[in-house]
Amino acid sequence: MSAIEDLATELSKLPGIGRKTALRLTYHLLKQSKEQSRRLAESLLTLSDRVRPCERCFNLTEDVLCSICRDPRRDQSLVCVVEEPSDIGAIERAGEFRGVYHVLGGRLAPLDGVGPEDLQVVSLVNRVSTGGVREVIVATNPSLEGEATAVYVQRELAHVGNSVGAVTITRIARGLPIGGDLEYADGASIAQALAARRAM
Ligand SMILES: [Zn+2]
Repeated sequence: MSAIEDLATELSKLPGIGRKTALRLTYHLLKQSKEQSRRLAESLLTLSDRVRPCERCFNLTEDVLCSICRDPRRDQSLVCVVEEPSDIGAIERAGEFRGVYHVLGGRLAPLDGVGPEDLQVVSLVNRVSTGGVREVIVATNPSLEGEATAVYVQRELAHVGNSVGAVTITRIARGLPIGGDLEYADGASIAQALAARRAM
């Protein structure tokens, strides 16, 4: 395979990049200086070398714990469960949430071969049962798969108690566009969905 084909194939694996765009990007990259190409290649390598999941919440970090878990001003007893690290960015941009997170690493999608064992649910149950958590807010996306995942998480947590007693499990309110992605929702909608959360 030629170098051009090779890069275009890799680029077309990225979300939202079709074959045509991949080729266009490849030809664009050919036009830039060698130095610029080297910087791009190096930052890609550095990214995969340095970034790893937070040991507590599975957010992305360059340390053992992410900056949110390390922040003493965050309420560790309030845990917001999201599908992907990018969802944390969306909720943080809304600027209302003062608790911490737990990243599942996806959502239940049997057709794509994603089952419960592929998600960080066992770690969530362990965390809730040992960590002084009083409320878990399930903030998976308002899609069919996101709802199914929320129900699964709720069932797994239903009988978990801890040192602070019963754990309340809530679901963010509807109002976010159905089938939409938390990641693309505006801050006001996210803040509203969080504020109007309901017990599951
Ligand atoms: Zn963390």
